[in-house]
Amino acid sequence: MTSPTDDVLGPGAPTPPIPIEGGAADATSYLPANAAVLGDALLDRLRATGAEVVLDEARLGEASRDWWPAAMIWATEGKVPARAGAVVRPTSAEQVAAILKACNDAGVPVTPAAGRSSVCGSAIPLHGGVVLDLCSLSGIVGVDDTSLTVEVLPGTFGDHFEADLQREHGLTVGHWPQSMALSTVGGWLACRGAGQYSTRYGKIEDIVVGLEVALADGTIIRTGGAPRAAAGPDLNQVFVGSEGTLGVITRAWLKAHPAPSHQRQAAWGFSSFEDGLEVCRRILRRGATPAVLRLYDDIEGERNFETGEGVHPLLVMDEGDATLIDAVMSIIEEECAGATVLDTALVDRWMGHRNDVSALEKLIGGGLVVDTMEISGPWASLPGIYTGALEAIRSVQGTLAASCHQSHAYTDGACLYFTFAGKVEPEQRDTFYAAVWDAGTRAVLEGGGALSHHHGVGLNRSRFMAEALGPAFEVLVALKGALDPNGVLNPGKLGLPDPFGPAGWPA
Ligand SMILES: Cc1cc2nc3c(=O)[nH]c(=O)nc-3n(C[C@H](O)[C@H](O)[C@H](O)COP(=O)(O)OP(=O)(O)OC[C@H]3O[C@@H](n4cnc5c(N)ncnc54)[C@H](O)[C@@H]3O)c2cc1C
Repeated sequence: MTSPTDDVLGPGAPTPPIPIEGGAADATSYLPANAAVLGDALLDRLRATGAEVVLDEARLGEASRDWWPAAMIWATEGKVPARAGAVVRPTSAEQVAAILKACNDAGVPVTPAAGRSSVCGSAIPLHGGVVLDLCSLSGIVGVDDTSLTVEVLPGTFGDHFEADLQREHGLTVGHWPQSMALSTVGGWLACRGAGQYSTRYGKIEDIVVGLEVALADGTIIRTGGAPRAAAGPDLNQVFVGSEGTLGVITRAWLKAHPAPSHQRQAAWGFSSFEDGLEVCRRILRRGATPAVLRLYDDIEGERNFETGEGVHPLLVMDEGDATLIDAVMSIIEEECAGATVLDTALVDRWMGHRNDVSALEKLIGGGLVVDTMEISGPWASLPGIYTGALEAIRSVQGTLAASCHQSHAYTDGACLYFTFAGKVEPEQRDTFYAAVWDAGTRAVLEGGGALSHHHGVGLNRSRFMAEALGPAFEVLVALKGALDPNGVLNPGKLGLPDPFGPAGWPA
């Protein structure tokens, strides 16, 4: 069965994506955004909260970036996106609240950060100020085995969380992002993330039961907490996906499940990506929800599994109660009857390498511009989005490769995960990168897709938010104005109005 206890656990601390040329201490800001000044009075007030206040230049440099691929390129030039003024490390919700109140009173930006594994620049301190490092708020607080819920602190790294939950309590939350060892529970919630098994266990917005949140003015609130309550709108969902712009999650209650006792795997090959999509749609329509239902186009099939040109492989894995899993696999076998049966060793191969995160560093270190663009769309629109987005990305001069797989599937639609790589002159890399994102994103939005399925928005996708949400974007702006009237919480993200000035991205 899936268990991180079988793997080597990660460090339980942020993993740097790529070395910074010349070292983190001397790294300078790449983006031209205005930087806030941290006065001595604020520093004294931050120290008085009891939290650790870090001013060491090397630690500031490291805390000034995340896994955004654009920033990984800048790291090869000795730059971070924007340097933090201080890193503050609270150990309680009360300290978080006091830090937020101090920054709010001083009008200084505060950027919550934990694993710093965001790939959109969500965790970078665009205007300097305080990086609120939540990694010391870590660990499982309690488990209600009768109601199947777990109470956990936000800075708990994913692999440690699941290892403890399975070992100590025989339970799983079932949230397995590829970045399991790089990311935290709070980061999953703040980015509205997806585990690789979301077709069975749901995305994090389905898994959350309740939250404790510290607001910009220092108030601590609790949201949710009861199953399917009807006391007005679900306030959990105001903070899930808010990327640190509306409040800081200081505690979470999540749904759990008995650790799986049974697992089955299968693999098939389709002669077109669209045929594979259609079969996935029919599987979900019949109510089968296998943990893994991953469909690769033939480019990715060949790259990852050597399945050959013209073969679009579908990998299936499900886990849980044996009776249920056998029923799910029977439905899948019936729906895949016309496809070629492939070796289940392909699933083992994927399972063995699924959390390997070394590829980006190698490619970017080698001078390529690479990134991934994950989106979601309804089944009716997915074939058009697949073709339209690939065409749009390939039309940008400098693109060497563009490919796609379906990574997560639901009754109403799925996530398509595009990967692109290009090579241009070093001084053209930002322009090329932004042009690919413009072309791909516009094709997705025009095709009826959503801006993101699980990576979120951050800085990179900010410019598309108003267009993607339409008039509803003003509701988000109003929420921001009500909860954070001084705009100090993670300014420059989610496309929200930024009182500190323009981001300078893209140039
Ligand atoms: C190799 C790789 C693979 C990835 N695979 C996946 C995947 O399979 N699925 C997926 O969903 N994502 C994936 N990601 C993206 C990333 O891991 C997720 O977005 C993750 O949820 C971020 O968590 P973090 O702890 O690193 O947060 P950070 O990067 O530190 O922060 C991300 C955002 O959340 C905010 N934030 C963090 N903690 C809190 C808090 N307690 N309260 C309020 N705001 C907070 C920050 O301000 C920031 O806006 C991947 C990233 C990499 C590098």
